[in-house]
Amino acid sequence: MFIQAITLFPEMFESITCYGVTGRAKQLGLWQFETINPRSFADNKLGYIDDRPFGGGPGMIMMAAPIQAALKQAGTRYKNQQHNSRIIYLSPQGQPLTHRKVIELAQYDNLVLLCGRYEGIDERVLQTDVDEEISVGDFVVSGGELPAMMLMDAVLRLIPGVLGDSLSAEQDSFADGLLDCPHYTRPSEFQGMVVPDVLLSGNHALIAEWRLEQSLRRTLARRPDLLDGRDLLPQEAELLQKILSEREQAA
Ligand code: SAM
Repeated sequence: MFIQAITLFPEMFESITCYGVTGRAKQLGLWQFETINPRSFADNKLGYIDDRPFGGGPGMIMMAAPIQAALKQAGTRYKNQQHNSRIIYLSPQGQPLTHRKVIELAQYDNLVLLCGRYEGIDERVLQTDVDEEISVGDFVVSGGELPAMMLMDAVLRLIPGVLGDSLSAEQDSFADGLLDCPHYTRPSEFQGMVVPDVLLSGNHALIAEWRLEQSLRRTLARRPDLLDGRDLLPQEAELLQKILSEREQAA
């Protein structure tokens, strides 16, 4: 996968290109990355790419022309190669970034991530040159770089070879529609709290059942919306029934 970020702060992306599993995967050539700075396309010597909003009000707006030129450069570099490409503007007004969306984005060969700054970007270039807007949550941060890196990390984890053990991604929260189960490591006793016996039993069938039950318990307690309309497997239905009757008895 080739990812291009349109950003005024290219150095910020070192945290994802140089560190952790994504940094290692980049070194292995599992993904490629480049930044394009809209400032290179400023039509003035001082490199301004923002201006005051029409109609007044606080803050500055990124101008359409340098953004369009940066997107064009991204496209020229890649589209010639006939790969499928998606241009995304990171925006608090976009569709929420979910596991389903991440799976969808992982199918592309090329993602172009447009990072806003200031009060945002001139609406006209968003209308003409962007495929979709994606939000990382119902809050506002100062720029699109951190949201872009969150999206990149989530997508790259799904690329074969990026994670040391591909099972990790399959067992993570949301991968099968449930939250992950609790995890423990050495020592088996910590400040008087002990690891559940079953995890030390070596009985893999029992461990798998315990983990599924814990996932269901957590999902029911923390994110019951994830269970709405879920097509429960027979084992899940049985465990859920057990959990719900325990709850009834406790009430
Ligand atoms: N005035 C804009 C609004 O209220 O919709 C917010 C501008 S914000 C200060 C600057 C940039 O940060 C945005 O252009 C966008 O690229 C990015 N950004 C802020 N919050 C975001 C979020 N929740 N998800 C994705 N990007 C976000």
